[in-house]
Amino acid sequence: MTAPLRLRLDGGALVDNWRALAALSGDAACGAAVKADGYGLGAREVVVRLAEAGCRDFFVATWAEAAALAPLGVTLSVLHGVRAEDMAAAAAIAGARPVLNTAAQVARWRAAGGGACDVMLDTGMNRLGVSANEVAAGLLDGLAIETLMSHLACGDEDGPMNARQRGALVAVGERVAARRLSLANSAGIGLGRDYTFDLTRPGLALYGGLPRADFPAAIRQVAWPEAQILQRRTLHAGDTIGYNATFTAPRDLPVAILNIGYADGYWRGFSGRGTARAGGAALPVIGRVSMDLIAVDISAAPALDEGDWVGLDFDLSRAAALSGMSQYELLTGLGARFDRVWS
Ligand SMILES: *Cc1c(COP(=O)(O)O)cnc(C)c1O
Repeated sequence: MTAPLRLRLDGGALVDNWRALAALSGDAACGAAVKADGYGLGAREVVVRLAEAGCRDFFVATWAEAAALAPLGVTLSVLHGVRAEDMAAAAAIAGARPVLNTAAQVARWRAAGGGACDVMLDTGMNRLGVSANEVAAGLLDGLAIETLMSHLACGDEDGPMNARQRGALVAVGERVAARRLSLANSAGIGLGRDYTFDLTRPGLALYGGLPRADFPAAIRQVAWPEAQILQRRTLHAGDTIGYNATFTAPRDLPVAILNIGYADGYWRGFSGRGTARAGGAALPVIGRVSMDLIAVDISAAPALDEGDWVGLDFDLSRAAALSGMSQYELLTGLGARFDRVWS
């Protein structure tokens, strides 16, 4: 069975993006954040390609995500650490280690024998992580820490917070026996070599997202949504289309109804703003985005017909500006109804 919508995934662009981020990382190893099913693209397929390209450090959020990728034989860090309920999985999944975030997680890990682990240090984001004070009081003494990491709150902006967080990681890193230090996500890599330490952890930019307009590498689009035309019709001047009749045809218009909607992650913010594309022709989205359908004006490609495929414009920074969603939401929202087709 094939679906009437597909996500064309450019494996070459994914690998090129990783190589560009690895080059910007200099001597630091370049890992990959593959949580949330590889930001919606499909974590297995992402990991296979990046491991083949030389990536050795993969980051997931939960143990269920680790279990799904463990058969690939890669090294996984589980960002949310270990709850009591995770300890059996943590013991059973070879190649996966927790990123310990709290004193209770550290105690739990020690009580279970304290194998190799990573530790998240909170340097000001106040999300997950142990504090510098806890570390100074000996919380981590004797622990087998592979990577001591922290996470930037404002890596995509200029401001004093980045240097402050960097300084806090350096200060604690001098007192902790960790094999590696790590701070930079995609945006952090763009801040330069002061931020790359021993290991970088890009996610967004691997998948075609641009963390900031002046990002110092060319990032290629990886995910290309395409939808099939379910019906072709003609709107007559004065006809409206879709829910709440928000669009009125100013003249007779050829229109295609496409099999994609907000349940697929083509958000309502694209109503009247998004575009599809056939060949070079731009096909504006008219009216509201529905759950499973959108309508596009095909005046620029009037030969299009039922059964034809069109692409949706999905350059992430432009699509984010149009839709009001973040680039992260656009990627991770891409739904389960797409056939994911890798090249
Ligand atoms: C998600 C995540 C990353 C990747 O961030 P991007 O902004 O997508 O590059 C890196 N580190 C941690 C701790 C994360 O949670």
